[in-house]
Amino acid sequence: MNLILLGPPGAGKGTQAKKMIEALKIPQISTGDILRAAVKEGTEMGIEAKKYMDAGKLVPDSVVIGIIDDRLKEADCEKGFILDGFPRTVDQASSLDEMLQKSGRRIDHVVSIEVPDADLLARLTGRWMCTCGASFHKIFNPPKVDGICDLCGAKLYQRDDDKEEAIKVRLENYHKQTAPLIEYYSGKGLLRSIDGTGTPDAIYAAIMAVVNG
Ligand code: AMP
Repeated sequence: MNLILLGPPGAGKGTQAKKMIEALKIPQISTGDILRAAVKEGTEMGIEAKKYMDAGKLVPDSVVIGIIDDRLKEADCEKGFILDGFPRTVDQASSLDEMLQKSGRRIDHVVSIEVPDADLLARLTGRWMCTCGASFHKIFNPPKVDGICDLCGAKLYQRDDDKEEAIKVRLENYHKQTAPLIEYYSGKGLLRSIDGTGTPDAIYAAIMAVVNG
């Protein structure tokens, strides 16, 4: 099962992918997580990517395409994968098509999680993350102890690009650069749109209905 989760920042792609990996036994591949790890490690790629990420801009296609090309060759992707945050431009999508074609694979479903901009701004400005991958929200999903991860006990942090200025740029970029993928995948008959405004469990059920359908 080769899946793409498509949707604006804050739509819940990461949260849903974490739930799906357990049920489907396939890995989540998040270019955002891979880039943040590179930033943390201080690699050359991380230092370069940070400039774009902090400003809410997209990292150049060549960088993320290279990341995905390497990652999809790893053994744990043989039974399938969930792409979260990639592709984000039409060029990335056509490069992905080429990569998959070369290895005799194809995308099964593109699940588009739809949420209005006003909701996204509220979700992202209140978002708190943990290095273990969990995410919380000060109003919608508060941790049991303020500032501490329920799952692993580590201190929560706010992403640099979850500040209001960067969020506005990210949403603009989504509409300009990523939303055209809806048409791209709809033209290929792969697009499955779902309502992303419900509870995480309701959204998960809608995704699994697509996957199992
Ligand atoms: P995310 O965690 O998916 O919201 O990604 C965080 C940031 O990483 C984005 O705002 C971009 O700067 C960068 N990024 C992640 N995935 C991509 C991608 N596919 N193409 C370009 N930049 C990306």
